[in-house]
Amino acid sequence: MQPSASASNIFDVVVVGAGAAGMMCAIEAGRRGRRVLIVDHAKAAGEKIRISGGGRCNFTNIHTAPDRFISSNPGFVISALRRFRPRDFIDRVDRAGVAWHEKTLGQLFCDGSAQQIIDLLLSDMGKAGVQLRLSAAVDRIDRLADGGFSLTIGGAQVEAGALVIATGGKSIPKMGATGFAYDVARQFGVPVTETRPGLVPLTFEAGLLARTAPLAGVSTPAVAAAGKARFAEALLFTHRGLSGPAILQISSYWREGQEIVLNLAPGLDLFAELRAARAEHGRQSPATAVARHLPRRLAQWIVEEQGAASGNLADLSDVRLRALAGAVNAWAVKPVGSEGYRTAEVTLGGVDTTALDSRTLMAKAAPGLHFIGEAVDVAGWLGGYNFQWAWASGWCAGQAV
Ligand SMILES: Cc1cc2nc3c(=O)[nH]c(=O)nc-3n(C[C@H](O)[C@H](O)[C@H](O)COP(=O)(O)OP(=O)(O)OC[C@H]3O[C@@H](n4cnc5c(N)ncnc54)[C@H](O)[C@@H]3O)c2cc1C
Repeated sequence: MQPSASASNIFDVVVVGAGAAGMMCAIEAGRRGRRVLIVDHAKAAGEKIRISGGGRCNFTNIHTAPDRFISSNPGFVISALRRFRPRDFIDRVDRAGVAWHEKTLGQLFCDGSAQQIIDLLLSDMGKAGVQLRLSAAVDRIDRLADGGFSLTIGGAQVEAGALVIATGGKSIPKMGATGFAYDVARQFGVPVTETRPGLVPLTFEAGLLARTAPLAGVSTPAVAAAGKARFAEALLFTHRGLSGPAILQISSYWREGQEIVLNLAPGLDLFAELRAARAEHGRQSPATAVARHLPRRLAQWIVEEQGAASGNLADLSDVRLRALAGAVNAWAVKPVGSEGYRTAEVTLGGVDTTALDSRTLMAKAAPGLHFIGEAVDVAGWLGGYNFQWAWASGWCAGQAV
């Protein structure tokens, strides 16, 4: 039997995890007059917000729509995304006087720093009367006879009528990511789907890595495809394999053993271009002809890989030109793996959405227990979608607790 909590440790709502989703939920519950405690084992709130978007926080995407999210239950996000839209978050950003800009593809970033978003949330939590406890680990959770929850937090007993788990996924363990949400889910009989790193650089096996080593640092626009998924964005060669937005996006769809197909000259029929170049400038080197459309180092490398580095365009038959063009327009490459949770921006999978109410994010089998944000089996594309899910799911739970 757990000792009971002192009056100052009795709350209507305890939120575990002071990240994007948890803080949004705490604000909303506090505004509704609920007594709210939010706890985090980190020394500061919103650490992932701080490092997000290269320090400028890509806080939403104006093209938010359900098809920009990956979940075993794709319709689950519809309700929350409808109830709290990008415009709702932009209004808060505007009211706080935080300047922002659209970078590309509907991605909104702070002009200044991501800290402005954290400050906005901390300020709103303060105004809503939310208590924040940092460096506080939750050691134990028990169900009370009245249906509420008892938590042991740093040795102290805390009681709450509703419990919101907002501890995120497994990505970036160095920043304190844990599988805590999944453990709590299992404790209360809520299923968890298989998790894997998403939005993550892909790696090459040693032989291919040795061959591509000279390309590390080269970036080029590309279309990356895996199965039916395809993304047209920048691609970057790294010392481990491939990265850049196109690769991060496709990594969420790619599975071990699968090839990805890269078009390194999107929108260009390189075979036709090379044939025309051969007719007009037959003495041009193939590398020079390809380099009209690709970064020079990459063009040189592809031409060498195709055994076409010596000689000139006039020496290449249609068959060889087609092979060379194919290596650019449809380079099929099999990554050996990914860089894993160490660098993944998001966790795919998580608390099974079929076990949650899509309007309140409450576990159907455990009344009063809610799961929000990245802990849930919902992962967005790159580009502000993951924060929009965190805000929307946090907002919905905040109306319900
Ligand atoms: C490098 C990087 C850049 C990113 N950039 C963007 C971007 O620009 N735009 C975008 O939309 N998304 C971005 N993301 C993804 C986005 O940060 C996450 O999807 C989002 O932060 C998830 O919010 P959350 O509140 O669910 O979880 P988190 O933000 O991960 O918050 C979880 C909180 O719970 C705490 N916690 C964990 N375990 C425990 C425990 N056992 N007890 C107590 N507290 C615990 C953590 O300390 C943390 O504060 C980025 C991710 C990374 C890694």
